[in-house]
Amino acid sequence: MRVLVFGTTGQVACALQRQCPGTVDLVQVGRSEADLTDPAACAAVIAQSQADVVINAAAYTAVDRAESEEALALTVNGAAPAAMARAAAVRRIPFLHISTDYVFDGGGRTPWQPHMPTGPLGAYGRTKLAGEQGVVAAGGTHAVLRTSWVFSAHGSNFVKTMLRLGRERDALRVVEDQIGGPTAADDIARTLLHIAAEFHAGRGTSGIFHYSGRPDVSWADFAREIFRQAALDVTVTGIPSSEYPTPAMRPANSRMDCTTLAEAFGIPRPDWRASLTSVLAELKEV
Ligand code: NDP
Repeated sequence: MRVLVFGTTGQVACALQRQCPGTVDLVQVGRSEADLTDPAACAAVIAQSQADVVINAAAYTAVDRAESEEALALTVNGAAPAAMARAAAVRRIPFLHISTDYVFDGGGRTPWQPHMPTGPLGAYGRTKLAGEQGVVAAGGTHAVLRTSWVFSAHGSNFVKTMLRLGRERDALRVVEDQIGGPTAADDIARTLLHIAAEFHAGRGTSGIFHYSGRPDVSWADFAREIFRQAALDVTVTGIPSSEYPTPAMRPANSRMDCTTLAEAFGIPRPDWRASLTSVLAELKEV
């Protein structure tokens, strides 16, 4: 199976490289070969590839900056995946795409199911929603994997920020009224490769699926577990989001119901605490 991946440097893109079994021919293209600000060029890369499956692991992910760069973010997160999915669909190549809990408005306490009404609170969420819609509208075999709170040993993420701050300070204030499922990039990569293999074998169902680590926690509790596992003596005080203002609003309820992924592909929610242990080991923090 030959898998064409858009993205070389991101958390999930790197994890795909690490998790890829030797039996899979993984071809990764970065910004210099396929710039997502040029959707037609990205579609052309698919047209010229001999890919059996395409995975888009590239995206405009600067949530706060997107508030002032929505047009650019919309091209990268909306128009590019739509064009890529169309190019894949006409060649009957399954297309796998990653989306986010930020397509929801974060109301209530009920875990979001894939079919529930969306209502992004900010520009990033709006552009990611446009991408989902473009992928579905392309009409080919597809999986849109909505995930949340991605962490890995690579790149910038909450775990690495906490480790840095935890070495500098003995007390931190961390948001306590946003609840979600931290998800390791390695787990996402394994899941994508599993779906790719299923589609390649003519199995599986197209659709939007949810995939996040369990149990759901607040950012403050996520931070406490990071410090516990890394044996850093840091007191975490939970604060409301209103005391940590950011340009983009974040959903309070990011709990995601991942049942349909388990039903369609037999993939359960991963325990993020075990995945965190692996990431800390990679960073030599435990
Ligand atoms: P990263 O921010 O780690 O990486 C983003 C990747 O996209 C980089 O490889 C970057 O390349 C590439 N990229 C950005 N702009 C362009 C462009 N114009 N042309 C080509 N490549 C580009 O992302 P993650 O791995 O964390 O995220 C993977 C997916 O998961 C994304 O779809 C994201 O929306 C989604 N997601 C992420 C969450 C998170 O917490 N991080 C949460 C929920 C969903 P370069 O190095 O050249 O900039």
